Amino acid sequence: MGLFRLINKDIAFENETRQGVVTLRLLYIIQAIVVLLDVFFAGLHVLSEYKYLTIGTLIAIVILFLLTYWMKTEPAMIAYIIFTFLLVPWLIPILGWSAGIQDYYVVILMLCFFANFGSKGFKFALAGVVFASRMIVIMCYSGMASNLPIDDLGNNMIQVTNNAAIFLSVVIISYIFSHRKNEEESKLMKYNDRLVKEANTDQLTGLYNRRRGQEFIEEIKGSSFLGSVSIVMGDIDFFKKVNDTYGHDAGDEVLKSIAKTMQDACGKDAFLIRWGGEEFLMIFGGKNGDETLGIIENLRVHIMEHPIIVKDNEISVTMTFGLAEYDFSGDVQNTVKEADSKLYMGKERGRNRVVY
Ligand code: GH3
Ligand code: MG
Ligand code: MG
Repeated sequence: MGLFRLINKDIAFENETRQGVVTLRLLYIIQAIVVLLDVFFAGLHVLSEYKYLTIGTLIAIVILFLLTYWMKTEPAMIAYIIFTFLLVPWLIPILGWSAGIQDYYVVILMLCFFANFGSKGFKFALAGVVFASRMIVIMCYSGMASNLPIDDLGNNMIQVTNNAAIFLSVVIISYIFSHRKNEEESKLMKYNDRLVKEANTDQLTGLYNRRRGQEFIEEIKGSSFLGSVSIVMGDIDFFKKVNDTYGHDAGDEVLKSIAKTMQDACGKDAFLIRWGGEEFLMIFGGKNGDETLGIIENLRVHIMEHPIIVKDNEISVTMTFGLAEYDFSGDVQNTVKEADSKLYMGKERGRNRVVY
C-alpha cells in the first residue's frame, strides 16, 4: 500500500533506525486529521476568522512531515516537540479548556523518554520544562471556555477528537518503541543462546566439548542427583588405523556415527562429552555402576556388531570403556581418573570390553 510505504520509508542515514521518524510521521498525520476535524466540529464558519491559522498549521504539519525524510532523527524530534509545545497554549483559548489540548504535553513527554535521542540530562530537563508549562497553562487557562460560538455537540466532538488523538499517539509511541525493544531483546537472547551453545558444543559430533564437560564435573558434587553418579571413559580401539586405511574424513564420519549411537544408547539423561580426539566421557546422573554397566555393555556390543558405512566402505570399529561410580565423598576428578585407569586396563587386557 502506497501510504504505508510512504510512512514506513527508511531514514536516509544508515546508522539510524527508522522507528523515530516513522513515529513522527504518524503523529503529524494524526495532528493534521485533528485540525481538520476540530474545524469541522467547531463549524465551518470559524474558517472566516481562523482561515490563516488553520491553513498555516496544516502547511506547517505538511512541511514538518516532509522534513522527516531528510532530517536526522534528533532534530526531527525536537522540531515536533517545539511545534506541539507552541500549538498547545495557542489553541486552548480558541477551542476551550475542555477540548483537552493540554494533554498533548503527555505525548511530548512520552516521545522524549521513549525515543532514542538526547542525553539523560536533556530528557529530565525537558520533562521539567513540560511540567512547568503545563502548570502555567493550568493557571492561565484552566476551565476557560472556547472563544468561538460552538454548540454543546461541537464541543463534545472536539473533546472526543482530541482525546482520541492523544490516546492514539500514546499507543503509537508505546507500541513502536516497546516493540523495538522487545524485538532487540529477543534477538539478543537468541544470539546469546547460540553463542553459549557453540561455546559448549563439539563441532564435529554435536556432543558437549571438554570445556563444558569440566564445568559439569565441577557441578556434580553440589548437585542433587538421586542416588549415585556413574562416570564412563570410552575410547575407540585402533582408531589411528581407521584414519590410515580410509582417510581422515572417513575417520570423522566414524566419530560422528559413534557419537550418534552413544546418544541413542545412553538416553537423553546422560551427559555425553567428546573428551579428546576419539575419547568420550559419559556421565550418568542417578544411575549406579551396575545399571550403567548394562547400558555401556549394550552400547559396546552395538558398536561391534554394526559396521559404519562411509562411501561404500564398511568400517568396523570397537570401543573400550572404563566405568567408575562416584559416591559423593571425595573429589569427582578422582572418579574421572579412576574411569580413565580402568579404560587403560581394558586396553591392556585386549580392548573391546568394559572394565568396572
Ligand atoms: P588405541 O586402541 O590404543 O586407542 O589406539 P588408537 O589408534 O585409537 O589410539 P591413538 O591414541 O594412537 O590414536 C588416536 C588417533 O585418533 C590419532 C588421531 O589421528 C585420531 N584422531 C584424533 N582426533 C581425530 C579427529 O577429530 N578426526 C579423525 N579423523 N581422527 C582423529
Ligand atoms: Mg583409541
Ligand atoms: Mg585415545
